[in-house]
Amino acid sequence: MDSNVAHGTHSIFDERKTSIRKIFDAQVARARAERGGSRQQRLEKLDRLEAAIIANVDALRRASAADFRKPVTEIELSEISPVLGELRHARKNLRKWMKSRRVRPTLTMLGNTAEIRCEPKGVALIISPWNYAFNLSLGPLISAIAAGNNVMIKPSEMTPNVSGLLSTMLQDVFEESEVAVIEGGLEESQALLELPFDHIFFTGSPQVGRIVAEAASRHLTSVTLELGGKSPVVVDETANIAKAAKRIAWGKFINNGQTCIAPDHVYVEETVCSEFADELQKNIDKFFGQSTEARMASKDYCRIVNLKHFQRVTSLIDEAIDAGARCLTLEKRDEDSLFISPTVLENVPDNCRIMSEEIFGPVLPLIRYQELSDVVRDINSRPKPLAFYVYSKNRGNVEYLLQEIPSGDAVVNHNLIHFLHKRLPFGGIGNSGVGKSHGHHGFLAFSHERSVVSNHIGLVDQLFPPYTPMVERMAVWIRRFLS
Ligand code: NAD
Repeated sequence: MDSNVAHGTHSIFDERKTSIRKIFDAQVARARAERGGSRQQRLEKLDRLEAAIIANVDALRRASAADFRKPVTEIELSEISPVLGELRHARKNLRKWMKSRRVRPTLTMLGNTAEIRCEPKGVALIISPWNYAFNLSLGPLISAIAAGNNVMIKPSEMTPNVSGLLSTMLQDVFEESEVAVIEGGLEESQALLELPFDHIFFTGSPQVGRIVAEAASRHLTSVTLELGGKSPVVVDETANIAKAAKRIAWGKFINNGQTCIAPDHVYVEETVCSEFADELQKNIDKFFGQSTEARMASKDYCRIVNLKHFQRVTSLIDEAIDAGARCLTLEKRDEDSLFISPTVLENVPDNCRIMSEEIFGPVLPLIRYQELSDVVRDINSRPKPLAFYVYSKNRGNVEYLLQEIPSGDAVVNHNLIHFLHKRLPFGGIGNSGVGKSHGHHGFLAFSHERSVVSNHIGLVDQLFPPYTPMVERMAVWIRRFLS
């Protein structure tokens, strides 16, 4: 009986794998036939996508609310606007991005003309996470389409409503051989990762990023890995404390702390730490209400995505408190509604997991410091962060910290906002990611920059064998004067 069931499951999955392979083959055939298509064709695809996004705003609001009670304003600001902004920026700049770039010859290359052509990589796989499921699926899709690729998208199984919406929306807009959505979890991901894609754009955790990189290496597929980690914040004694606390409270508790670039923990200079903690609490009260009941009822405070993550975050808090950390805020959690109140912790012992694991929830540890050099040592003892934030009016301190602490990106006197700057590359370094996205950098991630040299005068031909004394002298002369 058991083996029959197992056999049945096996064959259903084999069918699924076959259908995934069929879509991939169709995309490869189309990519080879169309070679990315003309600018006009790409623009037309972007137009269709834009119309579909606009037509699905209400559906997205419903789907996001059903997944984890994402507030409407956050959906507008963090899911829809950035995607439409990315699309319109690509549309506006596509002519410039697609144009081949002539480069001047170097001395040894005299007699040749040279150019760089951006060509589509071919068929790309986008694997996206659940926390901004719409944005982090469609943002890379826009770059991939602009660069002329065909795309298979695997959205997260943890936000089934938004994933389902993406699937129906993109099915309406594109043929499966252009853009296809493969819904599902681990098995689907693994089936996709067996295929020889031309590029994989993965957004998710560093742990799964390693699995993706390993799978990609089997086909030597290029990867962009947009990963996570702990993004630290420093608030020094010269900072505008009220503003810093307000901005950090916003950046931390938006999406319930489930943001890859959320401030993870804050180092505060000890003479301003109490003031900072008071200001944080004032802002939490102002944003979400003064009582636990008000915070639970607030429509502006979303929820933890599922029970597994709820238990993960509460166990991080419990371990810290058991080890002696002090909770500065009203502590409340409700498993039924996956609610964890905004939580600020102080005196967290260094060996607690909350100080080494990405928190990814509404919990903010504060760490008092005296010397900036101690902060630098502490941050640099951990993997390189995705984002680093510093609040200070002292330019010397700011430069010192930027110089000493490597991170994917950095913001001075604010947080999160760099994600919205379409002209900046966005991405991590080391454990927090490989490669860049957004705007032109996203277009380049899905493009192959092909060098094309056209020869006009055959100077190099004078160096062919037989290597006479004259050729040898010329080779030495090149080394001395032209190289
Ligand atoms: P995750 O790594 O668990 O999952 C991401 C995607 O990978 C999902 O589609 C999932 O189905 C798939 N996946 C999961 N396990 C897999 C496996 N073993 N093999 C192949 N595919 C697998 O991440 P998540 O929980 O969805 O998202 C949270 C993480 O993503 C956090 O670490 C966060 O910092 C990071 N993140 C980074 C960015 C960024 O832009 N750098 C943005 C958002 C989230």
